[in-house]
Amino acid sequence: MRMTKYFVPTARETPSEAETASHVLMLRAGMIRKVAAGVYDLLPLGLRVIRRVENIVRDEMNRAGALETLLPSMIPAELWMETGRWQKYGKELLRIKDRHGHDFCYGPTHEEVMTDLVRGEVRSYKQLPLVLYQIQTKFRDEIRPRFGMMRAREFMMKDAYGFHPDEASAAEGYARMFAAYENIFRRSGLKFRAVEADTGNIGGSSSHEFMVLADTGEDTVVSCPDCSYASNLEKAESKDRVAENPASILPLERGGAGGASPTDVETPNQKTIEEVSAFLKMPPERFIKTLVYCLDEGKEHLAVLVRGDCEVNEHKLKTALGADSVELASFEKVRELTGAGAGFVGPRGLKMKIVADHLLRGITNAASGANKDGFHTINLSEGRDFKPDVWIDARNARAGDLCARCGKGRLDFHRGIEVGHVFRLGTKYSKAMNASYLDADGKERTMVMGTYGVGIGRIAAAAIEQSHDQAGIVWPYSIAPFHVVILPLNVAKPDLAQTAERIYSELSGAGFDVLLDDRDERAGFKFNDADLVGIPIQVIVGEKGLKNGEVEIKVRKTAARFSVKLEGVGPKIREIADGLLS
Ligand code: ATP
Ligand code: MG
Repeated sequence: MRMTKYFVPTARETPSEAETASHVLMLRAGMIRKVAAGVYDLLPLGLRVIRRVENIVRDEMNRAGALETLLPSMIPAELWMETGRWQKYGKELLRIKDRHGHDFCYGPTHEEVMTDLVRGEVRSYKQLPLVLYQIQTKFRDEIRPRFGMMRAREFMMKDAYGFHPDEASAAEGYARMFAAYENIFRRSGLKFRAVEADTGNIGGSSSHEFMVLADTGEDTVVSCPDCSYASNLEKAESKDRVAENPASILPLERGGAGGASPTDVETPNQKTIEEVSAFLKMPPERFIKTLVYCLDEGKEHLAVLVRGDCEVNEHKLKTALGADSVELASFEKVRELTGAGAGFVGPRGLKMKIVADHLLRGITNAASGANKDGFHTINLSEGRDFKPDVWIDARNARAGDLCARCGKGRLDFHRGIEVGHVFRLGTKYSKAMNASYLDADGKERTMVMGTYGVGIGRIAAAAIEQSHDQAGIVWPYSIAPFHVVILPLNVAKPDLAQTAERIYSELSGAGFDVLLDDRDERAGFKFNDADLVGIPIQVIVGEKGLKNGEVEIKVRKTAARFSVKLEGVGPKIREIADGLLS
């Protein structure tokens, strides 16, 4: 491709709308343009990267025996009603009505549509297992679209669905997909880690997320340095670190048990644990954080207790309670239910279900809100002054906690970008949608499913997050938009222009994707653009070198430079490319 015939609107300035390196650089390198929040144009250069990623994904899916299909984006509501997701999926589901007033949605994921296809066509165990996939545009009305292609509202996803005769076959299919995913991310040049992920209400431990390690990641990867345990924070468990209880248990009432009034202390304007902890001179571990949660959009309200130095983990809460949604109750609701403002709520005397984190078992001489504005209660003891109805793991693991798996290592925390997700679904969807087959004995049985997603655009963005420098993008060779860029430093000089053209034909003929910067621009300008766009190998054709029959080759990643005789350019590029690919 010749730059003069191409469309790469690069920019010097950092666009104000972008926060992360990948977002800034995709805009500056002329790969994408914003149309609306989370909705982007893909320009030619951007699309080339997306196609490269797609091809790697497609190749690995095909090798794993999955078959490519293409399902519609527009999905009738009836299919989503069969699984209950029409109601449950919430506002992320982009819903539309057609001209007849029929409800549809734009697919954010395709379990329903794929299961509908398979239940209609598959009758016999002989047709199973069957793994179907597609690479297609997904729609999710994300609450906070951001970071460009990383969290968009319209984006490309590869989604695959496995249909199996039984659990054993589903486990095999899962392992095959897991391996295919490792290949995809390795071939895309990414440093990644597979972590255990939350299975929500489906249960089991058969869900893994593939995380690209990068400081700007929205996810937290928790791992143990002493064993193979790795999990995302949503699910990460740590060994209980039970706080030492003081030797003597203090009475709650002034003047001893049965005394006049509880030991409420005035704590005006002290709401957060930190504030009250400093004010009362008690460490946060002796506090009982009490939060009122609303389940399934108001179906139930309950109090959740965690130790003052811990954070509530809403994913664990949701899973343990079998809820579809959990969110903090509004200030008004908290007051209505407890008589106090948020910050002054405590477990004693609460008239609602209490769910407590294991770390609070047997805690004594603790402090919490007094359910009275401006007051906290001290000397609370679990069992005597409040009794939780349910004990669960309700807290976030913390860096330095003991690993729950091996009990030896102290957990490390890293930031990660979730690029892929593999999930054993069991019969959740096949049961709801009646996807069954006849086994060898002619008995009707329910199919066992798996679902496997990869974000194509997110892979491209994650690659940039992991690989860039001050000057711009440093593409992994395998997903770079072009392999080589040729930079004649002065196209007005016929010998330079002609040499550049000759190298262009030679390298193109040898199978490289080559961009020829034939623009009549200053050398510095071209160098900047070449570095910004991040093509792995640069061939610089300058006057001085050419006098000796030489050009210069620069490797973007290492900034290594080589002077190479004209006849040696092809072999040298091959050698560098092989090195970058290995
Ligand atoms: P997240 O927790 O980041 O919202 P998710 O759990 O909703 O992701 P899945 O439903 O598992 O994601 O989707 C499969 C893959 O699709 C993800 O691993 C990710 O790579 C990609 N993906 C999901 N949401 C988006 C989005 N809004 N923009 C771009 N890619 C996305
Ligand atoms: Mg999501």
